[in-house]
Amino acid sequence: MRTPLVAGNWKMHGSRASNRALLDAVLAGIETLAGIECAVCVPYPYLGEVAGRLAKTRLAWGAQNLSEHLQGAFTGEVSAPMLAEFGCRYVLVGHSERRQLYGETDAVVAAKFAAVLAHGMTPVLCLGETLEERDAGRTEQVVGRQLAAVLGLNEKNAFKKAVVAYEPVWAIGTGRTASPEQAQAVHAFLRSGVFPETRIIYGGSVKPGNAATIFAMPDVDGGLIGGASLVAGDFTAIARAAQRKG
Ligand code: PEP
Repeated sequence: MRTPLVAGNWKMHGSRASNRALLDAVLAGIETLAGIECAVCVPYPYLGEVAGRLAKTRLAWGAQNLSEHLQGAFTGEVSAPMLAEFGCRYVLVGHSERRQLYGETDAVVAAKFAAVLAHGMTPVLCLGETLEERDAGRTEQVVGRQLAAVLGLNEKNAFKKAVVAYEPVWAIGTGRTASPEQAQAVHAFLRSGVFPETRIIYGGSVKPGNAATIFAMPDVDGGLIGGASLVAGDFTAIARAAQRKG
């Protein structure tokens, strides 16, 4: 049985004061939920405070990116050992915004994935196709290539622990969601490259109103939530939808 995971991606949002209010409200909202895991991936500067607030709660925390290097002259970068020191359980790698806006290649994403695992944290490998690629019938080719790059540098067994997040680029922050059937088809394809026990979560405009139907699909094991993770009531409603699956 795969424990559903609902992970928030705050992106570059937040402030020390608003984070406190948001976390307090999320903690209150998920207090009684059982059988699922919840996490928030926050901007680096907040990790210390978030770790302090969330220690011994049922909300895990993590980061949205990291360097593939472990230390050295890489101004502005943050390494896996640094994130591990802050108790991160999850680290997103290969988010489409990193791939598209910062030119992260499949090879860089694979190296980041390895760095996360080597430091005892769980990588959340984000992958997905653009609208152009979907329209050209290339979805499986694209996500297959993205997955193969990571498998090429890492043992397949890594995916017993790692999480895969299918995030069609055309659905992220657009209000346009993949249909449950579209998500299920890609998740089933991805599962054939990993393990029955690998959690494969869906991301792309998941909201309280659509979460339950997406999570009802057999190969959808929860969600990676962007915009809705900034609204405590929305995030907790989505977590409740995942709980009904668990
Ligand atoms: C994301 O940032 O990973 C994401 C899925 O965003 P949104 O839920 O806002 O589409």
